[in-house]
Amino acid sequence: MDAMTPARFREQSRAACRDANLRAVLDHATRYFIGKRSASLEAFPGREEHFARARAARLRSLARLPDLLEELEASATAAGTVVHWAADAAEARAIVVGIARQAQAKVIVKGKSMVTEEIALNPALEAAGAEVWETDLGEFIVQLAGEPPSHIIAPAVHKSRQDVAELFAEKLGLHGQSIPELTLLARRALREKFLAADMGVTGANMAVAETGSVILVENEGNIRMSTTCPRVHVALMSLEKVAATMEDAADLLRVLPRSATGQKMSSYVSVLTGPRREGETDGAQEMHLVILDNGRSQVLADPALREALACIRCGACLNVCPVYQTIGGHAYGSVYSGPIGALLSSLLLPQDQTRDLPFGCTLCGACARTCPLSINHPKLMLALRQRVASGRANPFSAAHSMLARHPLAYRAAVAAARAVDPHLDLLPRLPGLPGLAEFAAARKPPELKAPFRARRNKERQ
Ligand code: SF4
Repeated sequence: MDAMTPARFREQSRAACRDANLRAVLDHATRYFIGKRSASLEAFPGREEHFARARAARLRSLARLPDLLEELEASATAAGTVVHWAADAAEARAIVVGIARQAQAKVIVKGKSMVTEEIALNPALEAAGAEVWETDLGEFIVQLAGEPPSHIIAPAVHKSRQDVAELFAEKLGLHGQSIPELTLLARRALREKFLAADMGVTGANMAVAETGSVILVENEGNIRMSTTCPRVHVALMSLEKVAATMEDAADLLRVLPRSATGQKMSSYVSVLTGPRREGETDGAQEMHLVILDNGRSQVLADPALREALACIRCGACLNVCPVYQTIGGHAYGSVYSGPIGALLSSLLLPQDQTRDLPFGCTLCGACARTCPLSINHPKLMLALRQRVASGRANPFSAAHSMLARHPLAYRAAVAAARAVDPHLDLLPRLPGLPGLAEFAAARKPPELKAPFRARRNKERQ
């Protein structure tokens, strides 16, 4: 697969639009998720109140984030977890590679984690000599295919059953056709990796400041295995994922699985408070928590856009988005796709790479109506568009707008320019005045087509 980058969003979207197979697979998958979610929410008494509680819990956390993170560090440390702070992706990679080296980890098993995708952890661990295995079925599939995930909760949503069967045959020499057969093949292949693993790496759906616990939700049991079979467990968490109390975490857990997969609760919910204690029979002997910033504290400081950090990554806004339904996740060129992905990537990556992302949105509002946290994606998208537009401002356009508010100064500037260049056609060609040619070209009236020009001339006579 070609290198995908947000900077190539338009081009990648056009290519995705032409892919009829992708459209068919996405149509099937997004309908499935929307149906499951709707059925689950219909049978969720008091859902609006639960959504409001979840939103309040997230906004409370964001409002007190620095304090809560310090509280989390203190309580996790007291529980025996080693807490690390990473300012950016490079630092986070270095921390995890350092832990792996110290543990002499040869085989590493991973639970699905968008934050480890964000920091490109696997190549760093592999470069350090470790064998890294994704153990979530969808992640395992995209790892074998050498592709990034294309959905927050369903990484291989863009692949059909037939695609997976061919992939398993090609990469693993394993042959199966039905979904249960393919799942069993993956399960057998991964079982021996769990048993051989020295280290397990996971994300964190949330961490609780008051107890120092890391909470992980999943349906396959692979995260439970990744955090209990190996001797060392490393959890990576982006810093906004902290919940103040267990009660707040419970409010979030009530809405996350329902909104993500249409389940009342995920099959497995692991609450890990420190490593295995004396007398306990399972759990990692060493537990680390890496708290990643990677641009988020700047977003937090921005009142117009901070709300994007309230996201709990349920993925529901992707499924209802007409743009995502058409182009899928890879076209966004970033690990985060769909409406929330366009926002997060625009906020966390440099603007020159992401300037088209906020414009890849119809502003239909389906995402905001679906989001259990009531995040107002269209409003945030418009705020980002405004920033991109002002970042693009040509200095001559800006000066022109300013002068236009002061008629005397405007006339004086035009007279001075005409004194040196009577037809104003030489100055724009001068080198060393970047933006002037573009400014002049934008103000040049378009050439009228001959018949129209003739008619207009006649009207004037
Ligand atoms: S923005 Fe809302 S709907 Fe989208 S993933 Fe986040 S919580 Fe879910």
